[in-house]
Amino acid sequence: MFDNGHISVLLFMKKIIIAIDGFSGCGKSTTAKAVAKALQYTYIDSGAMYRTATLHFLNQSTNLDNLEEIKQSISKLKLEFKRNGKSGVQKVFLNGEDVEHAIRGMHVNAQVSKVSKIREVRNQLVEMQRHLGHSKGVVMDGRDIGTVVFPDAELKIFMTADLDIRALRRQKEMLAKGEEVPLELIKQNLSERDIQDSTREESPLRKADDAVELDTSHLEFGDQVNAILKLAKERMN
Ligand code: C5P
Repeated sequence: MFDNGHISVLLFMKKIIIAIDGFSGCGKSTTAKAVAKALQYTYIDSGAMYRTATLHFLNQSTNLDNLEEIKQSISKLKLEFKRNGKSGVQKVFLNGEDVEHAIRGMHVNAQVSKVSKIREVRNQLVEMQRHLGHSKGVVMDGRDIGTVVFPDAELKIFMTADLDIRALRRQKEMLAKGEEVPLELIKQNLSERDIQDSTREESPLRKADDAVELDTSHLEFGDQVNAILKLAKERMN
């Protein structure tokens, strides 16, 4: 699928940070994962971190309108990424438990943008993201990676796609995991999250001035990955 001709050369070039931001459901994570794999970089799903914090608050019945409760609860959050040695698949763990599946459900979808508005939560997760990326050679996707987490990232991508196309893709993805959700509900959740993420006070979703915009509405998956790999090669020079 990918243009493998360039890859062996890329592996000897300087390591960079690739920040991929954009709206919900436009394929940031699948694209970022494929780019990381091609470059033998580490992939970091910052959305999974906000989702895990949300699940933690739900498990602890934390009152999201009470800052003291939030601070107490977040101090007990133990979040780790672990990679399966054989398959290379990365999973997220909350307090020692694999929550990769649980964090993608609609109950977390419905609350995550409320959680990600909270400054104390962002501060803690951003610190962890910077630590994870400190030796470079990472592809991180999210909403504020190019603007706040790594404002000096060598390559910044801002991904967009039509809402209808994003909803259809997300529905297919959820169906593959056994969750059947009506298209309208997905569309509504994506558009609500877009609005909340773009209009919040703390690190709102926006395109960094030096980011390259990539509209994936009508792009084949392999083409969008190759487009980013091409840019990465230029930036590694
Ligand atoms: O990327 P994903 O859709 O899994 O992210 C879930 C939510 O986490 C987003 O809707 C957003 O509210 C929050 N998020 C964020 N900043 C990031 C990544 C995700 O606020 N860097």
